[in-house]
Amino acid sequence: MSYQIETFDPEIFEALNHELTRQNDHLEMIASENFTHPAVIEAMGSLLTNKYAEGYPYKRYYGGCENADRVEQLAIDRACELFDCKFANVQPHSGSQANGAVYAALLQAGDKLLGMDLSHGGHLTHGSKVSFSGKNYHSFTYGVELDGRINYDKVREIAKITQPKIIVCGASAYAREIDFKRFKAIADEVGALLFADIAHIAGLVVAGEHPSPFPYADVVTSTTHKTLAGPRGGIILTNDEEIAKKVNSAIFPGLQGGPLVHVIAAKAVGFKHNLSPQWKEYAKQVKINAKVLADVLIQRGYDVVSGGTDNHLVLVSFLNKDFSGKDADAALGRAGITVNKNTVPGETRSPFVTSGVRIGSPALTSRGMKEREFEIIANKIADVLDNIHDEALHLQIKDEMKQLAQDFIIYDRPIY
Ligand code: PLP
Repeated sequence: MSYQIETFDPEIFEALNHELTRQNDHLEMIASENFTHPAVIEAMGSLLTNKYAEGYPYKRYYGGCENADRVEQLAIDRACELFDCKFANVQPHSGSQANGAVYAALLQAGDKLLGMDLSHGGHLTHGSKVSFSGKNYHSFTYGVELDGRINYDKVREIAKITQPKIIVCGASAYAREIDFKRFKAIADEVGALLFADIAHIAGLVVAGEHPSPFPYADVVTSTTHKTLAGPRGGIILTNDEEIAKKVNSAIFPGLQGGPLVHVIAAKAVGFKHNLSPQWKEYAKQVKINAKVLADVLIQRGYDVVSGGTDNHLVLVSFLNKDFSGKDADAALGRAGITVNKNTVPGETRSPFVTSGVRIGSPALTSRGMKEREFEIIANKIADVLDNIHDEALHLQIKDEMKQLAQDFIIYDRPIY
């Protein structure tokens, strides 16, 4: 197969091929990454990128939108079926933009919001002072205890004192189930709306492998590219018609002009994948694999935050070690295992150095790896950490990991 890009832009083509090699040779264990279905990539690379379709299906500001309408309506219908809810906005370009739209729809500048602290596992958009969410709104935070778990009584205390208009639940680095029912009870008690950001766990939620935020949350957002394994983007879901109307206006014309119709088509393809019977098996395996990872690391003497995992990720703490999260991230990178440094409960180092790493199972599970492979990999991770300064060993493990990865190839070319 030959590609126009190969001759038209050889420099970019070369970078794409190097990325193909990197994605195939390395073990991708960043908890927020995944390998999407080749059909999703095809839709993203389609001619729908040419189309302006400001507005919503059958209510557009441009002519010629009949196919865009069909594509977006299919994406909406599939999202509602998947999450078992009444309204979906599939236009947000990213998870952060989806969250911005929720705030724009439901808050006035300066209103109070309560979200999970970034350094405790929350996301920037949950009220961090460096994000629009902490600059435009009056944000307060809750966190986790030293055992790595949310203390719901404390969240309630903070909510009662701060009286937020919205409570955000959901996280970027939290290994335990989120109790949406308890969050709703707290929100009701203080007269706040409950907003669940399920970006990380959505792929598990739709398979019944994590409790759903519905019927408790008033509004829900997600990215489509993490555990859902779809294209990079965001969605907003609700059962409340008034909220749905406000969210739609907040997205367009509030925050953006034309939607990315090609990405919306890819979201629809991704949702079809999520609706298939195989998806349930995948989500189950994601959790099993993360558990194998946690169990082996614990057996090898590592401090796994909260003592294990209920979902797709494992947080490992090096507070009692003489190396940092940054050192571990670099050493594992040398061994061909990609993770990210992460703050941990009781953190003593800066956010740029940290005392932990976050390791996820979704991407390697998409490659078809199961318990056997995760046991091997977890032991190799422990070997690297046990010998954090032994660069020769890291390079030797890199070769072994490359060998293992070759049996689990998804993509044989960079473009579909
Ligand atoms: N919400 C959560 C919980 C996330 O973890 C992330 C990304 O990591 C986002 C929102 C933002 O998504 P995006 O990177 O698409 O803006």
